[in-house]
Amino acid sequence: MSIYEIKENLEDHNYSPSEIVEILSNIDKEDIEEYAKENFVCPKCYGDLKLITYYEPRSEHFGMPVSEEMSELVCEECGWIDSN
Ligand SMILES: [Zn+2]
Repeated sequence: MSIYEIKENLEDHNYSPSEIVEILSNIDKEDIEEYAKENFVCPKCYGDLKLITYYEPRSEHFGMPVSEEMSELVCEECGWIDSN
C-alpha cells in the first residue's frame, strides 16, 4: 500500500488533512516492523516469514544434558532474520 492509498483510506474515514499528516508522521518504523512480524510478513521484502524452532545445547544440569528451545523468524526470500 502506498502512502497515497493510506491517505485515501484515511480521507474515507473523514480525517482532516492535518490529522492525516499527524497520523502518518507518528508511524514509527519499529511499529511497522512489529506489525509485520506479528503477521509473519517480512519487513524487508514483504515475503512470508517462517518461524524456525531449534534446540540450543546448554551446560549439563546434574549430569543431564540440557537444551533450550529457541525460535526465530526468518524470511526465505531475502534471508532476513529477526534479530531479537
Ligand atoms: Zn524477506
